[in-house]
Amino acid sequence: MNPKKLNPGLLWMQFEDVLVPRLGLSVKERAVYSYLLRHSLVVGKVRLQFAVMALARTLGLSIGAARQAVRRLDELGALRVLKRSKSGHLAEMRLPEKIRAIRLRKNGVTVTTGAMAAGESPAASLETTDFLKTWALRKAIHDRERGACFYCLRRTPGNVRCLDHVVPRVRFGRNSCRNLVSCCLECNSRKGDRPAPDFLRTLYRLGHLTPAELDVRLRALKDLTAGKLRPNLTATS
Ligand SMILES: [Zn+2]
Repeated sequence: MNPKKLNPGLLWMQFEDVLVPRLGLSVKERAVYSYLLRHSLVVGKVRLQFAVMALARTLGLSIGAARQAVRRLDELGALRVLKRSKSGHLAEMRLPEKIRAIRLRKNGVTVTTGAMAAGESPAASLETTDFLKTWALRKAIHDRERGACFYCLRRTPGNVRCLDHVVPRVRFGRNSCRNLVSCCLECNSRKGDRPAPDFLRTLYRLGHLTPAELDVRLRALKDLTAGKLRPNLTATS
């Protein structure tokens, strides 16, 4: 994608007519997206560095609201936070047409994909669902892993399995289907706050995974965070 080739009119229409209603953005989220887009892709930059505090001040939001909006936009795939540090966030912005939850044809027409096409919940609502909220939603995550631990691949009967946050809650990991996996109690307690890829490599070093299995698990982890491993909600609704 070449940011220089942006069509501002089309971009504005996609933003107002498709992105905002499709993703169900709040006034605050849309303000944050619009502001960040203005300072990134609109001026030919894919990435931008910003401080949440300054963003909040500029937009007249509380810091909590600005942080929450950035987090939700990240979950929806409208942007991707690459790094959080004391100096601020480094994010990669996505144009409406590049956002997975809403695919657009060149003329701006929306194309429904995946779950939406099958008549299930809209992709955007799947992205924002809190999967710890109900028993049925938790079960949908367990069912997605088909009775195997996401990390060590061992069979996990109902009494020894639990849900694990891939990005721990202390690091702002969410209760989304991109961040929750079904795993055995042992892996859950051993992993702790460690990054999931590191934990998988530890399992490999300890002989719990073969090289091929490690490869498959690392790929599954990538697919999970990219939103490709969707739980089936038809059985739960
Ligand atoms: Zn396990």
